[in-house]
Amino acid sequence: MQIYNTKSRKTEEFHTLEPGKVRMYVCGPTVYNFIHIGNARPMIFFDTVRRYLTYKGYEVNYVSNFTDVDDKIIKKAIEEGVDSSVISERYIAECKKDMEALNILPATTNPLATQEIGGMLEMIRTLIDKGYAYVAADGTVYYRTRKFAQYGKLSHKNLDDLRSGERQLKVSGQDQKEDPLDFVLWKPKKDGEPYWESPWCKGRPGWHIECSVMSRKYLGEQIDIHGGGEDLIFPHHENEIAQSEACSGKEFSNYWMHNAFLNINNHKMSKSAGNFFTVRDIMAKYDPQVLRMFMLSAHYRSPLNFSDELMEAAKSGYERIVTCVSNLDFMLEKDRPEALSEKEQELLTQVGELRRKFESVMDDDFNTADAISVIFDLVRFSNSNAEEHSSRAFLEALKKEIITLADVCGLIVERKQELQDAEIEQLIADRQQARKDKNFARADEIRNELLDKGIVLEDTREGVKWKKA
Ligand code: AMP
Ligand code: ZN
Repeated sequence: MQIYNTKSRKTEEFHTLEPGKVRMYVCGPTVYNFIHIGNARPMIFFDTVRRYLTYKGYEVNYVSNFTDVDDKIIKKAIEEGVDSSVISERYIAECKKDMEALNILPATTNPLATQEIGGMLEMIRTLIDKGYAYVAADGTVYYRTRKFAQYGKLSHKNLDDLRSGERQLKVSGQDQKEDPLDFVLWKPKKDGEPYWESPWCKGRPGWHIECSVMSRKYLGEQIDIHGGGEDLIFPHHENEIAQSEACSGKEFSNYWMHNAFLNINNHKMSKSAGNFFTVRDIMAKYDPQVLRMFMLSAHYRSPLNFSDELMEAAKSGYERIVTCVSNLDFMLEKDRPEALSEKEQELLTQVGELRRKFESVMDDDFNTADAISVIFDLVRFSNSNAEEHSSRAFLEALKKEIITLADVCGLIVERKQELQDAEIEQLIADRQQARKDKNFARADEIRNELLDKGIVLEDTREGVKWKKA
């Protein structure tokens, strides 16, 4: 498997630190509002990376944080007159709903910056002890950037280039820094802000230290893959490397992967520029799977420009796959020969070739655009070869193949079987009977079966009522 590594600017063969296991960290959102579809791009893409690694047989430990202490969260909390935890908790819950709708698998761990302050104090202490950090007069702790000889190795910037930005940095009034390139590890609190005690001042962490600490705690000093949007390469990820490697003396992450921007009118979609659509806005108009399809239909390292035309194309592409699977389901309801014919066996070898093609494009730096084309090839193959006399085994093999490959892309292509009202009433009657017979296990089973199909039962004095969840 080949992965393009931002650090080497080359496509490299993928080797894990531990055989069969992948340790992966992806920077998560700052939670002060609903996420926009730009934020959804790394979420969807790296979820697909994780799914494909799992498909290949790796055990993936996937950590993605929520940044829940930040100027923007504090600003919003002040506007609403609430504690900043009210804001972050609200938008973490909303973000998780969006992620579920987009079929993004829950991370192995979703650490919150505010719950990891102890580890941050400890890492800052180590950096001070090793001479990589210093405390300014007001208690701010800075990282001594020039001390880390390899600074710039990820973003391919050298310190002299960076010096040209110094004037700008000086204007920001941080003249208590030894050097304008130094960055904040810990800063003093301002009035009304959340803060924690520390040996240096009451305050809060800088953003970069959060990820170094959470990654180390949940994945260890060295990881396989670190991911995020390309805006994070500098300074965020460069600073993470400086912190983590100064502490451990070891290479922090072997592979650095960055997705290109989701643009709108060829400008980066961002909350601050105001040119954004939230995932909710899009879900009001489209099935969330269509958004997933749209994101994966471009290579992750190419910018993707949002447009109605591309969304419509994603919609019709997605529907083509869903229709193909439901046609197969429809055919499978009818009586037909069970076993594969000789001709079908031969046809299935072609299906096997398509599967290998899918794997080879995904092995080539996760080329999801080509992977989706292979799914379309498979749909076309199925549409032209599944017919009235096809055997059950053949149709089932086709269906399984499409569902498996779509699932690697996180696309749900099998329509949930909706229960008809009469079927629901019948199951409720069966449950009442089971209860009368004191067969509570069966009664619970029916309740759960209904729940699985999105039907919630409520036992009231007037009898059992049901509603769709
Ligand atoms: P933020 O909440 O701004 O810290 O961003 C969370 C994640 O979304 C980071 O990995 C960003 O790089 C990524 N991101 C933000 N805006 C975009 C965009 N327009 N296109 C792609 N990725 C983005
Ligand atoms: Zn981060």
